[in-house]
Amino acid sequence: MEMTIRPVIEKVPGRPVVIAGPCSAEGEEQVLSTARELAKLGTVDLFRSGIWKPRTRPGSFEGVGTVGLGWLKKVKEETGLKTTTEVANTQHVFEALKHNVDVLWLGARTTVNPFSVQEVADAIKGVDIPVLVKNPINPDLKLWIGAIERIYKAGVTRIGVIHRGFSYHGDTKYRNVPRWQIPIELKRQFPDLQIIVDNSHICGRRDTLQDVAQKALDLNYDGLMTEVHPTPDEAWSDAAQQITPQTFGELLEALQIRSLTSDNPEYVDTIEHLRHEIDEIDEELLNLLGRRMNLADDIGRYKKRNNIAILQTERWGEILDRAKVKGQLKGLSEDFVSVFLKAVHQESINHQEAIMQSRDVEA
Ligand code: PEP
Ligand code: MN
Repeated sequence: MEMTIRPVIEKVPGRPVVIAGPCSAEGEEQVLSTARELAKLGTVDLFRSGIWKPRTRPGSFEGVGTVGLGWLKKVKEETGLKTTTEVANTQHVFEALKHNVDVLWLGARTTVNPFSVQEVADAIKGVDIPVLVKNPINPDLKLWIGAIERIYKAGVTRIGVIHRGFSYHGDTKYRNVPRWQIPIELKRQFPDLQIIVDNSHICGRRDTLQDVAQKALDLNYDGLMTEVHPTPDEAWSDAAQQITPQTFGELLEALQIRSLTSDNPEYVDTIEHLRHEIDEIDEELLNLLGRRMNLADDIGRYKKRNNIAILQTERWGEILDRAKVKGQLKGLSEDFVSVFLKAVHQESINHQEAIMQSRDVEA
């Protein structure tokens, strides 16, 4: 779907878009004191706070509800900071609009459900309020795009996305694994979407927030959303990942801002030369892969004539093991070698299967 998308937040040159505030609004003083401290930093664009909280199990703190919207209004009046909160149904949208929340966001558990996204889209219809769409909890790019399209079709033109990582079953240092290639592909398809990293929900802990924020900026993200609380250890939700406004200020200070390009002729020249070499290598790789597939076809025909099975597990194991060792000598990670060769191998199998299944005896 063709979309003409405008920025959610006007970017100040030389620094990322910054969204910060507590995971949840807990009380007027907690909200206002956080906002006051954040406003002092001078680089915060948007104050976040959850009013309705989607919790995994009932009985946990599920948000203060509408009363908290009054506190967000005070934040704006007192500090001038614009505000944003999560909405998941019609009532949330109506209440948030009534209380002049500036930007709405869709949470990961909403994006995952087209019924809910549509309900929110229908409630927004006709109001051109900016909307940020978090990635769905499962790594499904189409579902993420679908949610963006539903919001766009409701007449919203200022849409951005928040990358908060994906659920993962197993051991990982992340609370939600980033799978950077998914948001990168989204940005490739829709270059006008502002993309914000939610380092808090990716990390789930304090000590890795800086690295993940930096990585996102190195990947040319537009900004970050971080959970900030005056007394993080006492937070009613997501205590382990929240940081004080002061620590957040230090995090922002330590970020390396890299430019997209440079006017320096030497830089332009060097980068052009290197990119040219990369393009040539890519072309060589494709030629080689083409040749490899032709050989696989030959083998397929030969196996067919001799009625031999396509997959020879032992040989495949040998190829993979050998390549991992060789790859290591070239500075290639085992993971990469394995993913790459598996894809190549699968393509060979597909080719050979097509040959096996063709009616032509001499295929
Ligand atoms: C949040 O931002 O506090 C939140 C609930 O996030 P997510 O939807 O990413 O889980
Ligand atoms: Mn949270």
